[in-house]
Amino acid sequence: MPDPAPARNLQASHRTLRDASALAEAGLLPPGTELAGLEAVAARYAIAVTPAMAALIDPADPRDPIAAQYIPDPAELRTAPHEIEDPTADAPFTPVPGVVHRYPDRALLKPLLACPVYCRFCFRREVVGPDGGLLSTGQLEAALAWFERTPAVREVILTGGDPLMLSPRRLSWLLERLAAIPHVEILRIHSRVPVADPGRVTAALAAALTLEKPLFLCVHANHAREFTMEAMAALQRLTGAGVVLLGQSVLLRGVNDSAEALEGLFRAMLRGRVKPYYLHQLDPAPGTARFTVPAEEGRALLAALRFRVTGLAWPTYVQERPNGGGKAVVGPVWEDVV
Ligand SMILES: *Cc1c(COP(=O)(O)O)cnc(C)c1O
Ligand code: SF4
Repeated sequence: MPDPAPARNLQASHRTLRDASALAEAGLLPPGTELAGLEAVAARYAIAVTPAMAALIDPADPRDPIAAQYIPDPAELRTAPHEIEDPTADAPFTPVPGVVHRYPDRALLKPLLACPVYCRFCFRREVVGPDGGLLSTGQLEAALAWFERTPAVREVILTGGDPLMLSPRRLSWLLERLAAIPHVEILRIHSRVPVADPGRVTAALAAALTLEKPLFLCVHANHAREFTMEAMAALQRLTGAGVVLLGQSVLLRGVNDSAEALEGLFRAMLRGRVKPYYLHQLDPAPGTARFTVPAEEGRALLAALRFRVTGLAWPTYVQERPNGGGKAVVGPVWEDVV
């Protein structure tokens, strides 16, 4: 069993890096990078690299799969013809601010739009950011009232942004209120915090996540190296609190676009008691074209993993349909698996 990844960048700072010059000072930009180009990107799309992620980046490797996810690139200001601002079409399915109701039995609640890191391929990149989208208490009450009067919804999915950026107190209040709704049977949180900022998973946060009703936490991670010793400890605190862990990943060029990288990722998840749930086809958000892996290639990659790895390591490969059509299963199909 491989050891969890050691820190590569020994200069890494103790605070989250939030602009081009901070990245340069931390030695995270390739030699010869023009800061002006990255500042132009930063003016449009938020930047954040946590100490945990900065420490994982090998600045000497121009193809580092961690750097690729978080270090901005001037290409982000070029929108390809197929790219759209709201690729998952959340806006037309929003009955009250912060809620997205697309499927009958479950709905999203986005209490804030801040994240521990800002992923360069994010499908909500036009709206996420450090000072965006924190619902006021009044808006949260209105969202809670919507859930109370919508009995078809049995599952509340907290997403954002990253719900684990809320203080344990605020999160506990919100979860208890949702869990008190009789027709809400299960709760789910989608988060990058356990890998991107594992120090946030304190005993107080774990306690806030301990509920009478089942809570599923879907951890977003895209590379085996994100499962550091600190991340593994954070995951253990979560399972210890009775949280069921699932994994979600995005298939990304230059990050995990090989059978070996995917196998490593899914095996690392399982070692952390995380069941791979979804592998997402990249959504066409603006300026993300460099991450595209064609669906046929993704199908072949997953087919190559069938039988080679335990079935527990196999996620469902899904793609968001245009115009809010929901998630479709991409494959692989019967013929792909030989
Ligand atoms: C992805 C998504 C969900 C969750 O779908 P599952 O297939 O249950 O994981 C729920 N609501 C919206 C709007 C979504 O985009
Ligand atoms: S953590 Fe999720 S919501 Fe936040 S930037 Fe990354 S992909 Fe987007």
